[in-house]
Amino acid sequence: MARETVDILVSGGGVAGLTAAAAFGSMGFSVACVDPAPPVTDGEAEGADLRTTAFLQPARQLLEEAGLWPRLVPHAAALQVMRIVDAGGEAPEPRIVKDFVASEISDEPFGWNLPNWLLRREMVARLADLPNVSFRPGTATKSVLTRESAALVTFSDGATIAARLLIAADGRDSPVRHALGIDVHTTRYGQKALAFAVTHDRPHENVSTEVHRSGGPFTLVPLPDRDGRPSSAVVWMETGPEVARLAALPVPEFEAEMTARSAGLYGPLTLVTRRSVWPIISQTAARMAGERTALMAEAAHVVPPIGAQGLNMSLGDLRCLLDLARERPDGLGDRTMLAAYERRRWPEVKARAAGIDLLNRASMIETRALRDLRAGTLNALYSMAPVRKTLMKAGLGMNPARPKG
Ligand SMILES: Cc1cc2nc3c(=O)[nH]c(=O)nc-3n(C[C@H](O)[C@H](O)[C@H](O)COP(=O)(O)OP(=O)(O)OC[C@H]3O[C@@H](n4cnc5c(N)ncnc54)[C@H](O)[C@@H]3O)c2cc1C
Repeated sequence: MARETVDILVSGGGVAGLTAAAAFGSMGFSVACVDPAPPVTDGEAEGADLRTTAFLQPARQLLEEAGLWPRLVPHAAALQVMRIVDAGGEAPEPRIVKDFVASEISDEPFGWNLPNWLLRREMVARLADLPNVSFRPGTATKSVLTRESAALVTFSDGATIAARLLIAADGRDSPVRHALGIDVHTTRYGQKALAFAVTHDRPHENVSTEVHRSGGPFTLVPLPDRDGRPSSAVVWMETGPEVARLAALPVPEFEAEMTARSAGLYGPLTLVTRRSVWPIISQTAARMAGERTALMAEAAHVVPPIGAQGLNMSLGDLRCLLDLARERPDGLGDRTMLAAYERRRWPEVKARAAGIDLLNRASMIETRALRDLRAGTLNALYSMAPVRKTLMKAGLGMNPARPKG
């Protein structure tokens, strides 16, 4: 069989890999994207990814360049306010409520929230419009051999491809990362997350709400109305055994517990989807590039779902790769490009992962005295307007300083 050649091979067709394929395809590069699992593009279907992704401000331009934004915006709920609630007192009631308001730092919302299964549907449809992109669900990356001139990849069906740039977007257990012998540093918190959607009586008014008590945050992120009722996506983090208990509760008892954990902020919560369970870890790869290969998204970094950072960091990786490819298209995948990728992304990824680790540890605190300290810190940081605005910009990834070269 003659070996196929492409500019870019994307290993992994999760949300990050599909976005990468659409973005590079829209720039005119020839792209192949492989994934062993056909994407589930219906929210009711078995195996549908019920998480949602809050795309933060900087993601918008990238999604526009990838031809995805017009497809996504009709389904998106805008996030105008990030509300942090401390309910760490004696009773699970809100004792400190602080609103971080998008209009304090720009004319745009903080971001836009969309269900992951719907992202996959729209992204796969976009790839079908790009004649220079071939998406191959049902095909896995099996082995990788890299040379100075190309990455040679063999698939589960026996076919091989030579790519100038191999992008590993194949998840936290990345086979490409293993093939390159790149180590990871993993932190386990003994935590899991429940992800599901709810409807409620009170409108969310485009406010995303994080309620902190112990075990991890309980986060409600706005969704468009469902069956004529206000709706939100929920991520509820707790210890592993507690999540197992909650996931097994009959629905009425579960609804009572989640309404109490939400501090009753939106009235009684009604469960409208399955409950899916996600292990929570922090993980960073020892490096983000190898010969002819760039690691991105969860192949390079996994963080707890706090502040909508996970996929947004991944889009930061992609932004960097796109900029480097645009600056020197002839150097796609060469040593110079990949060294620049490592230099530009690695410090930012490391710093952000460390910050999220700290926030997660603070949200897990059990003892009352430390919960009081946490509440005091929130109060103090919030009351200083310049600090508040800097925190908001940093959360969005609007850091002005970026290593060049
Ligand atoms: C509960 C929860 C809520 C979250 N909420 C947010 C949020 O609001 N905002 C945000 O930015 N992030 C959020 N995140 C993080 C975000 O969901 C992840 O960063 C993102 O889904 C990971 O995308 P990925 O494409 O890197 O990995 P995955 O989705 O794991 O995709 C990897 C793909 O690689 C494929 N693969 C595996 N083996 C092979 C192989 N041999 N060959 C080829 N392909 C292979 C897999 O089939 C899979 O499709 C959340 C995470 C969790 C757990």
